[in-house]
Parts: sequence; C-alpha cells; structure tokens
Amino acid sequence: MTDVVIIGAGPTGLLLAGDLAEAGLDTLVLERRSAEISNLSRAFVVHARTMEALDARGIAEDLLACGGAKLPGMRLFNRISLHLAELETRFPYLLMTPQYDVEKVLLRRALDKGAEIRYDHKVTGVEQDEVGVTVHTDQGEYAAAYAVGADGVGSAVRKAIGMPYPGESVLKSIMLADVKLAEPPADSPAIHGLNGAFCFVASFGDEYWRVFGWNSGDQKADGDPIELDEIREATRRVFGTDFGMHSPRWISRFHSDERQVPNYRDGRVFLAGDAAHCHSPAGGQGMNTGLQDAANLSWKLAAVLRGADPALLDTYNSERHPVGKAVLRSSGAIVRLAAERSKIKAAASVLAVVTALHIKPIEHKAMGMISGVGIHYGHESGEDALVGHRANDIQLADGSRLYEALRGGRFVVLDSDGRYEDKFVADAASAASDGEAKVIRPDGYVGWAGGDDPTAIRAYLETHAGKA
Ligand SMILES: Cc1cc2nc3c(=O)[nH]c(=O)nc-3n(C[C@H](O)[C@H](O)[C@H](O)COP(=O)(O)OP(=O)(O)OC[C@H]3O[C@@H](n4cnc5c(N)ncnc54)[C@H](O)[C@@H]3O)c2cc1C
Repeated sequence: MTDVVIIGAGPTGLLLAGDLAEAGLDTLVLERRSAEISNLSRAFVVHARTMEALDARGIAEDLLACGGAKLPGMRLFNRISLHLAELETRFPYLLMTPQYDVEKVLLRRALDKGAEIRYDHKVTGVEQDEVGVTVHTDQGEYAAAYAVGADGVGSAVRKAIGMPYPGESVLKSIMLADVKLAEPPADSPAIHGLNGAFCFVASFGDEYWRVFGWNSGDQKADGDPIELDEIREATRRVFGTDFGMHSPRWISRFHSDERQVPNYRDGRVFLAGDAAHCHSPAGGQGMNTGLQDAANLSWKLAAVLRGADPALLDTYNSERHPVGKAVLRSSGAIVRLAAERSKIKAAASVLAVVTALHIKPIEHKAMGMISGVGIHYGHESGEDALVGHRANDIQLADGSRLYEALRGGRFVVLDSDGRYEDKFVADAASAASDGEAKVIRPDGYVGWAGGDDPTAIRAYLETHAGKA
C-alpha cells in the first residue's frame, strides 16, 4: 500500500508529489496524459508568494533560469496601479512565464525526490474505508493511506466521492491569443474595458504577448472556430489599436466558471487546485492558488503519517477554503468590473468611475491578495496575532535565510536574534532564551509564538510535526 496517491500531474499534483517524496513517503502520481504530451500553457503569471514557496524548496532559481519577464506592477483599467516593488519579499514582481515551465521544474524535482509518476492512467473511481483508499484506473487498482485529487476542473476524484461543485458560469466567449505585436503597448500588463469590450495584454518577456479579449457583440460557444480578427476587433474597441498583432501560436475561446467545493476533505480523500476551486483567469490566481493548496497540505500529510495528531488534516480545509473563496471573489470582481466598464463609451467616463477605486488601502489590499503575500490563516490582532501569518524571509544568525532553513519540509524554531534550530519532528526542542521564540511551519507561516517554554514548543511540534 502506497502512503499517498495523487491524481493529476498538473502543477498542484507535482508540487505535492515532490514534497511528499522528499519527506520520505511512498508517493504515486496517476496521470491520464501520456508522458510526452504536456499541458497547454494556460497560466502565465507566477506571483511572489509562489516564488517564495519555490524558494523554500530550493527551486525558485530553476524557474527564473527558464527566462520570463519580471513585471514590477500591474495597471487595472488605466487607473488602479499595483506597485509590487513595494512588497516585502525577495520576489517583488509578477513573473511572466508559461505554465509548462513551472510544471517542468516541479516534475524534475518530484522525480529527483523519488515520486513515481504513472502516465496513461485514467482514474475512474475512488473508494475509501477507515484504513485506506482504493483508486480505480483504466489500468488497474491502487491502494493508499490517503488520496489527493489534483485532477483539475473536471475532477474524476471529486465526482467519485460525490462532492458537489456549486457555482456559476461568469462570462462566456472569452478569447485568448498568444501573438507577436508589431507596435506593443507602453504598459504591460494592462487591463481595460471600453465600448462593449474588455482586454488584457501582457508580455511573456520574449517576442510573444498574451492577449485576452471579450466583446459583447461577439458571443460564441467554446467549440466555435475562432479567428485572430475577432481578437483584433476587441482590442481595437478597447485600446483603439490592435497593436499590429500577428503570428499567433495559440488561439482559443473559453468560458469562465466560478465554483468551489464545500469541503476540501472527505475522510482520507483531499481535493486541491482546480479540482477544489475555479474562477476567472483575471489576476492570474488559479495555478498560484493550487500550488499554495499543495504547500499547505503536503507537510500536514507527512506529519500525520509520522504520528502527528490526525486532526491536523482538518486544518487544510479550514485554512485553504476561505482563501479559495476570497480568490473567487477578487478575480470575479476584476472580471465583473471589466464587463461593467466595457459598457462605457468614452475614456473620460471610465476614468471618472474608477477614480473612486484609486485609493491606497484598496490598492495595498489588492496587492497582498493578488501576490499571495497578504494571505494569512490567523487573527488580525490579539494574543495570537502572529500565529498563522506569513513569516518574512529574514536573515538568520548564521548568515543563511529563513526560507533556506525551511527547505526539505523542516520546521524552524527561531528566536528574535535569528538563532534557530530546524526540525522534522519533535525531539529535544529547546527554544532560544530571549522569551520571544516562534515556530515557523514548513510552508512559511508562523505556527506557534509565545515565550520560550521548551515544553510548549515540544508539545506544538508533537501535534504538528510528529514524534521523533
Ligand atoms: C486561459 C487561462 C489562463 C490562465 N492563466 C492563469 C495565470 O496566469 N495564473 C494562474 O495562476 N492561473 C491561470 N490559469 C489557471 C491555471 O491554468 C489552473 O488553475 C491550473 O492549471 C490548475 O492546476 P491543477 O494542477 O490544479 O490542475 P490542472 O493543471 O488542470 O492539472 C490536472 C491534471 O490532472 C489530469 N487528469 C484529469 N483527469 C484525470 C483523471 N481522471 N485521471 C488521471 N489524471 C487526470 C490532467 O491531465 C492534468 O494533467 C489560467 C487558466 C486558463 C484557462
């Protein structure tokens, strides 16, 4: 019996597989695609918090080495500016890089750490009892202690466990093209709506640009043929120019749903990534949110399989479900605002309407949410104010960085002078003696804070990391 079987080798499944294999668990990934067929490059934005998660796994540099533009900000509706350079992170930008590069880096790591990936395995059913899970595929059955459905928006796992996926279709007939531009815009990325249409235009950092267009006067079904001229027309309505777009390498039409399962856990089966939530691509949140789901779940599964309190697994849903809900809200707000703005005929009125939104606190909150750096699992104030909040990547007393110390799925017990101990399990945990010790979880959030009582620290680690 395998420890964990993961269904789906998309970004969510691959990050999870690498983490679990690195923790020494038997990890099997079942993927219906063939090994030589990669996923299409849907996502193209990697946000700061995802870069931090990759850094905590030692692979941020690998992704940066793939190339990709680092954009210091984002302009919404020609008015709202998000200056990511102000974020307190090593990665204060949007990295424009295709999803297949992210998957390539995560796949290499998962295989290096010893995860087994079986391609051409289509999952058809899942059953569970008190001791384990049986996953049925068109190639046979697999038994595991736990299963994770990371099999995307049409998740077979979700259907097999009878988990509903309530929500609605938000926008139909969104057009996408990856093209070259003879006369590129000054701003990248730019989102704007006008004259019955809205558009998003962003550079990949090489010769290609991604253009999304929606035109209220050109509404078709997903499967209908699509011409570059339709996207040109939407762009002209919004920006007054089609930027001389030519040489498309991918054109597609899709619709955007907003859905979320009511619970990310059903017994021994978990749902993560698009299998658990989906929303509009505005804000570039989908893949990033799925990767953060995986980073939240992996250390908890590893800890429980090492003997930590099984109730820890419930915190995957209690921490990640609200984040998924907030992402549905924020990406939906951008799309609805864009559709709303598209009804306006003159640029001057657009500016008048959105000026109301041009307020610093909103920009700041939006920046934290979109980059992921502002997401937390704790309280805003009170005694536990630190717990659940993201730990900054501080320099430690020995000259290393916190996110280096977290590598390998470690907990870090830290004092305010930057002295630390890193741990996989609760052993002789001894906090430093300045009265302000913290325990940082493997996913870079504060797990425990309050004094320097080694007994309390040890008790936290026993329930959250497992025993030595
Ligand atoms: C046009 C577009 C643009 C986007 N842009 C962005 C962006 O800029 N930033 C961003 O963060 N997100 C973006 N997204 C969303 C992003 O692409 C998804 O959120 C992301 O791919 C989800 O990853 P995942 O691993 O959860 O699922 P997927 O990537 O869908 O992977 C699921 C895997 O499961 C496999 N699978 C499915 N069914 C089975 C089965 N029965 N048995 C075995 N295997 C199975 C599939 O073959 C696939 O490999 C965009 C989406 C679209 C459509």
